[in-house]
Formats: sequence, structure tokens, C-alpha cells
Amino acid sequence: MASVELIAVGTELLLGQLLDTNTAFVARELAEIGIDVRGTHAVGDNRERIAETILGVLERRDGAIMTGGLGPTVDDVTKEAVCDALDLGVELYEPALLQMQRFFARLGREMRPNNRKQAELPAGSLPLDNPNGTAPGFVAFGRTGKFVACMPGVPREMKPMLAEKLVPFLIERFAPRDAIYTRVIHTIGLGESEIDHRIDDLFRSSENPKIAVLAHDARADVKIMAKSESTAHAEAAIAPLQREIEQRLAGFVYGIDGATPEGAVHALLRARGWTVATAESCTGGRIAAALTSEPGSSATFAGGVVAYDNDVKTRALGVDIALIEHEGAVSEAVALAMARGARERLRTSLAISTTGVAGPSGGTPEKPVGLVWFAIDAADGRSCAAHVHFRGDRAAVQARATTYALGMLWRHLSRDSLSS
Ligand code: ATP
Repeated sequence: MASVELIAVGTELLLGQLLDTNTAFVARELAEIGIDVRGTHAVGDNRERIAETILGVLERRDGAIMTGGLGPTVDDVTKEAVCDALDLGVELYEPALLQMQRFFARLGREMRPNNRKQAELPAGSLPLDNPNGTAPGFVAFGRTGKFVACMPGVPREMKPMLAEKLVPFLIERFAPRDAIYTRVIHTIGLGESEIDHRIDDLFRSSENPKIAVLAHDARADVKIMAKSESTAHAEAAIAPLQREIEQRLAGFVYGIDGATPEGAVHALLRARGWTVATAESCTGGRIAAALTSEPGSSATFAGGVVAYDNDVKTRALGVDIALIEHEGAVSEAVALAMARGARERLRTSLAISTTGVAGPSGGTPEKPVGLVWFAIDAADGRSCAAHVHFRGDRAAVQARATTYALGMLWRHLSRDSLSS
């Protein structure tokens, strides 16, 4: 199997001003075609250091795949660095020059000499045309037969170039037979360590397919990755493991691959012909936003109330002010009353509520920052409440509480009784 390392060029990447999404994207695409990515690098716009990095990679691997630094400005030095590293001169690539002339004529702008520089490629390169920008990419070759592929940094230009030009080149050159196939099992309501505990032996016994647990805010994914020569072989390797994991995590798996918690909630609501409403305090409308992010959600999501102030809890949801004064706004009783108010006033089959202390201030020893009460009020009488103490800053508490609420709704709909 061919092995490469990825190099992202740009001083912004080193200053933390730009998140390197290109590397993750390229790595995923290469995994799909069975090219082994053995390392990644971020390098500033410095000709010497870029050349040094390329030479290091070529000592270890079959090639380097780079993004960024192909533009017309003085700090775009990727091409020069490739020429230095591989000891190559440049030659003009006419089609890129013509494309650039047309591009500038269309804009009514004059072409500068530094634009012309973009149409020059390291001698003997394979050009990678760029229909979405001015700088072509290229694959340059060293004397030892190793390669350096360079693509623009702008993701909108890089992604189609990778898919349409570079991937076909790599497939032809390395004829990778094994690709990596993945299956993601999405869970909600189980901690990462509990998942580890339940599938620990599978982790250790399985090299191919490999298993990984990825924790997110209040939910976790189990990823099964199989290296295989065909989809059919991969499926045969993945399916029994998937069944086993699903069985061990039964009751917590809300979907596979592209599934989302909100999508899973809507599917169950649709199946029952039910509707839902929200009454949110500390989550500030995030549950409603998640539920409406699904196309077709109007059939199952009626609406919601962001009842932040106690007065709104009373006037918009009918929560008794005496109850708030007696129990406190962050309490089981108020959470239940909010959910009941939303369900009755918005006339839905069920409603979910949140009330909590998102922080950073407002916590007390009895009700610390991160404490959130949730309640579901259901027309069929199966109402319930739960509280969780979330860790993290305000944004984390809000995000986790939102996911938890979706999980609670999903469990309520998928089971006949709620066990949280
Ligand atoms: P062009 O030829 O179109 O000017 P370029 O190859 O010169 O592209 P850069 O100048 O390095 O690319 O980067 C241009 C922009 O592309 C950056 O400002 C950034 O928005 C985006 N970009 C560059 N590198 C990355 C990266 N690794 N991840 C995500 N975005 C990136």
C-alpha cells in the first residue's frame, strides 16, 4: 500500500488564525481509496522550511500531498520550495495561462506578471487543472520517482481538484486495492467509559475491522473500520461485529452512519403520528433549533417557547408563580409544569422542558452551575423528569443539555417506560 504524508502550508495555520480543515478532508478521501496517511504537517509560508519538510517526507514515504501557498502573492512559495526540494526548474503550462487570460478578460482586469507566475509549473509535472480558480495544481516528480502533489489552499478549489484530478492519478499509479470502509453506530445516554466496558473484549480481539469510540457532547459513536478490497468483503467483516455491538448497547443506539438524534426523534414521532413542543429555559431554543433542522419537521414539531424569565414561565406556560417561589425555577416541579404548559397550550402529544443553571454565575451549593432539570409531559400520562449535572463552560452545558434532551425524547418514544 502506498504511504504519504500531508503538508498544509500557511502561516495563518501556525498562528491559530485558521483551522486546518483541508488536512482532515484530504486524509478522509485518501483513506477511502486505500492510501495510507502516515503523518501530517503544518508549515508557515517559508520557502526553506517547506522544502525541508518535503525532503523529510520523501525520505520516509512514496509521496507528499500539499495544500496552500500556490497563489500569486510573494508569500505564496510552495511551488518554489518544491522546485528547491526536487532540484527542478519551472516551465510554462500554456492551458493555465490561457485560462487565466480569459479569466482576467472576463473580469475586465489587467493580468500582472505575478499572475503569469501561477501558470508556471515545476518541469515535468503533471498539471491538475483548476476550473474554480486561477492557480493550477500539479504533481511534481523527483529523480527517485517519488512525487509531490500540490493543490490550492482554498477548499472550494482544492476539493474538486482532489476528487477529479488527484485521486484518479493516485489510483492509476498505486492501484490501491484495499480501501477503508466505515460503519458508525450512534449512541445516546451512555458514557464513553460504559461503552468501553461493554465492548472492551471486542476492541482487543479485533485488528481488522478496527473499533474506535468517539465521544461527543452527551452522546458517543462507535466506529467500525474495515480495510478491504471490496464493499462486499467489507460488509461481511463489519456486519457480525455491528450486530454484536448493537446488541451490547441495546436501548441506546439511535441510528447508523448519517443518523442524527433529531432525525431519530422525528422518525419515531412520525411512526406514532405524534407531535412535540418545547419549553426551554437554559437551552434558549437550541432544542427547537435542532428539531427544526430536519427537513419535513413541521409534521411533527409544533413549536416552542423560550421561557427564560420567571414571568414568561408563568404568562406563556401557565407555571404557578407560587410553585416557582417555593421550589425555585430550577426544580423538578417547575420543569414538569413547563412541559405540561407547553403541551397543553401548543396542543401536542408531548412536550419537553429544560430549566437549569448554565453559568458561569448563578450557582449555589444546592443548585450548582451545570445542574439542569428536564421533563417530558405526555398526553398518554407517561410524564417524567430527570436531572443531570453537566460539566464545562456555559456553551458546553447548553450543548450537552440540548443533546441530552433529544436523547431523553428519543428514549421516551422508543421505550414504553423511561429509565433515566
Ligand atoms: P489561491 O491560489 O486560490 O490564492 P493558495 O494556494 O494561495 O490559494 P493560500 O493563500 O495558502 O492558498 O490560502 C488561501 C485561503 O484558503 C486561506 O486564507 C484560507 O481561507 C484557505 N485555506 C488555506 N489553507 C487551508 C487549510 N489548510 N484548511 C482550510 N482552509 C485553508
